Amino acid sequence: MTDSREPLATAIELLRDARRIVVFSGAGLSKASGIPTYRDADGLWMNQDAVQYSHADDLQRDPAGFSKFWAQRLAVVERARPNAGHLALAQLQRLRPATRLITQNVDGLLTVAACQDVLELHGSLRRWRCDHCGNRRGPWLLHRCKRCGSRARPDVVMFGEMLNPGVLLDASAAARACDVFVVVGSTAVVYPAADLPLEALSAGARLVTLNVEPLHLDTSASAVLRGLAEELLPRLVTGLEDGN
Ligand SMILES: [Zn+2]
Repeated sequence: MTDSREPLATAIELLRDARRIVVFSGAGLSKASGIPTYRDADGLWMNQDAVQYSHADDLQRDPAGFSKFWAQRLAVVERARPNAGHLALAQLQRLRPATRLITQNVDGLLTVAACQDVLELHGSLRRWRCDHCGNRRGPWLLHRCKRCGSRARPDVVMFGEMLNPGVLLDASAAARACDVFVVVGSTAVVYPAADLPLEALSAGARLVTLNVEPLHLDTSASAVLRGLAEELLPRLVTGLEDGN
């Protein structure tokens, strides 16, 4: 950890000078909360059920199996608690209210940690909706819409579905308007995650990367923090607080 001290000081300096900060997070942020990632070999996503029920067409193909699978996923998320990384980002927003949070995670843990206006690129498992009548408020009775009786589904972007264009537009605008763009726990290789840091960079923002593994973005970063989000984010925010 000693060789991460200097990049950490650089990152704190960058945040201190920034008016607008964007923090883009991926699965690495929620790992310490027990949320399995797509990539983990032992992750719930890698089992046969995940393959069967993660495509938009699966709701029609096997409605009961679909509901059961996603209800189990929701149960995992509802048991999970925000970790020190989520809480540090909430604190960052209190210190710097112009901070925007963009995430690929569907666990809603940033919001549980009291973060504000989180841009959830892939939606949230904590919100469900009826595909048939558009009901988004429930109540859901045995995963069915009480209004029309159709099956409800999580408000999550499945494979084969488009991202919410409004959320994407907001994320892109935030990336282009920020002074510092921080990538946390995401490999940022798939669209739109791959584009947002580049949009920020081309608009003149400085880039900070924080990840366990090296990222291709590291070569464009002003500070590269190597390690766990739940350890490094609190140190980053404490450093910012100390200088205030
Ligand atoms: Zn309905």
